[in-house]
Amino acid sequence: MYTPFLMCGYAAALVLMLVGFRGVRRSTPDLHGSRQLTWFILCALFGVLLIGLRPWTPALLSIVVSNFLLFAGAMFLYLAAADILETDSRIFPWPAGILIPALPLFVWFTYAHDLVIARLVIHATVLGCIFLSTSVMLFRKHSDAEHRQPARACAWLLILATMLQVAWCLFEAQATADQRTNFIHPDLMNVGFSYLSMVLALATVIGLLWLALTVHRLDLHKMAQTDSLTGLLNRRAFEEILRRELLRCDRAGGLLGIMLMDLDYFKQVNDSLGHFAGDDVLRRIALTLRDGTRPSDVLARYGGEEFVVLLRNAGTDESQAAAERIRMQIANLSGLPGSVRLTASIGVAVSEPRDTVTELLLRSDEALYRSKREGRNLVSVYRASDDEFETAGSFLPHS
Ligand code: GH3
Ligand code: MG
Ligand code: MG
Repeated sequence: MYTPFLMCGYAAALVLMLVGFRGVRRSTPDLHGSRQLTWFILCALFGVLLIGLRPWTPALLSIVVSNFLLFAGAMFLYLAAADILETDSRIFPWPAGILIPALPLFVWFTYAHDLVIARLVIHATVLGCIFLSTSVMLFRKHSDAEHRQPARACAWLLILATMLQVAWCLFEAQATADQRTNFIHPDLMNVGFSYLSMVLALATVIGLLWLALTVHRLDLHKMAQTDSLTGLLNRRAFEEILRRELLRCDRAGGLLGIMLMDLDYFKQVNDSLGHFAGDDVLRRIALTLRDGTRPSDVLARYGGEEFVVLLRNAGTDESQAAAERIRMQIANLSGLPGSVRLTASIGVAVSEPRDTVTELLLRSDEALYRSKREGRNLVSVYRASDDEFETAGSFLPHS
């Protein structure tokens, strides 16, 4: 007698969720997993409505179609998790394999041999397999530390949902054996099981939405910090890191080296080879910088053909040596588009106590312009003690 009320309550909750999801998809159209979660809600909604209509509808709709809709809903939860975590499982959802034997068996135990406990076992097995493979994916595939909390919460909810299905099967097997009946009694225990499984399903949807929004936020954050051409940090992200590092140096001591680099006569590369070749050259330069620096160094594309490197715990000599190494690597680069020879001018400056981002970058900029003035393909160091420059390097003919 409680069942129709319960189903109506669940259906109302699903409709509200559907409305909420419409809002979320409108405001964030590229949110991963939202399409699949909408399909889950639709499948669950029509599935429970058909189950609720059991006394008035034929078995085909209230037993077979309703259960198939719930299976499809579980698959959409799996696909939503795969889409959010961007795993290959989106292409071949292997837990769908369980449906190949399950669907005909379910039909057989409805029409050929009407056995409710067999249907319940099939129902629990299908949902359990899909839920457990989804939770394995959620435990293993999250790529970022910030994804861990929502991913684990969803995985545990799905494990609980699987345990609930198993407990329900065992309870019902006992009940049908004792009472020798072939239908599920809508008693308090069964209504409780239904209620709990609905709550877990809704909580999982909310958990997956939390995960999707976390992934989305981190993606946007990464995009806002990255230069799309080279994959290095952009100027804004670099200056923020430099600001924090300067504060840390003031607190804990230590020196920071800055290497500001500008490619020489780069306009000629664009003019002679075109912008696309120029872009290729910029990407090669970014790779060269990555190869020629330590993992702890911070690299960024500062502007068009200007790059900047933050060297942690590096004084004047270490920074100058690093800059000289980079200058030589760039001058010796081969295999560039059009076999072009390229050089770079570099300005080096080292942090002082209570330095600001602007002051430090300004000093490295002054050093860079000195390298340009002195003939390019040079490293100049701004010496804080006596406001003097020291310039080193070689002069290569430009093509
Ligand atoms: P200098 O030695 O004085 O630095 O000469 P330069 O030609 O490198 O200097 P200039 O500032 O005149 O030219 C910089 C060129 O960099 C101009 C612009 O076409 C090119 N550039 C800036 N950003 C990009 C980019 O994203 N892609 C490509 N291909 N070229 C770029
Ligand atoms: Mg420039
Ligand atoms: Mg230049």
